Amino acid sequence: MQNIKLDKAYGQHILVSKGVLEKIVSELEIEENDTVVEVGGGTGNLTKELLKTPLKKLTVLEIDPKMIKLLEEIEDERLEVLKEDASKFDYCSAGESIKVTGNLPYNVGSLILERIVECHRCINLAVLMLQKEVSEKIVMDKSPHWLAIYVNTFFDTEYVMSVPARFFVPRPKVDGGVIKLRKKENIEEINLKKYKKFLLRIFSERRKKLKKKISEEILLKAGIDPNLRVENLSLEDFIRLYNVLEGER
Ligand code: SAH
Repeated sequence: MQNIKLDKAYGQHILVSKGVLEKIVSELEIEENDTVVEVGGGTGNLTKELLKTPLKKLTVLEIDPKMIKLLEEIEDERLEVLKEDASKFDYCSAGESIKVTGNLPYNVGSLILERIVECHRCINLAVLMLQKEVSEKIVMDKSPHWLAIYVNTFFDTEYVMSVPARFFVPRPKVDGGVIKLRKKENIEEINLKKYKKFLLRIFSERRKKLKKKISEEILLKAGIDPNLRVENLSLEDFIRLYNVLEGER
């Protein structure tokens, strides 16, 4: 690796395991006509691996000017490097049907995931490295979290693998976890702002019974026992309850 100073504030932990880089790329199922967006190109480890595939176009988002300079040294006509904040980027500006990947900066990993949900319309598949704890939360192995419901409403999620901290330079405090998001086929039209607000509300004070947050009448109408708590609800329950609530407005 080049002699470059890595910046903690930008969550710069370079993934140095060739095997893991290859696995991320293979999980993206890249075909000839694909447009791929990579989040946080850094020194270009994953970028170079992606460029070995027959993809049509690779757009790399990076926030740090010194990393952008490095990325721009990679010679490939298919590569475009943009100085963008990946938590605010309009992913649909890259293409109508794209794939997203990246070894995400952990400090803004959840914000980037939220942005990916907001842009789900044009994202078919995403393979992302996040901190293991967040990745596990998203695939809903543990008690649900609002962001997991938010993501799983639009994408089928799968845990690909854990990646030990020693595979990164400098070594982060926590292990990583790779997840794969595949857009669902029949997605409901949902107002994302309202849906997020609804989820945050229902997940607040999670030990309280649902009837303390939403009227019993609405809960019964959605076929949900008002004495349950948020952790008892299934993904379908959340969507049904949201639709009943919206229908009542
Ligand atoms: N993909 C590289 C580097 C990953 S480290 C590798 O695995 O080798 C995460 C990268 O994301 C860093 O280069 C950091 O500068 C960049 N980054 C941090 N915050 C960002 C943001 N908000 N938007 C885009 N890139 C960001």
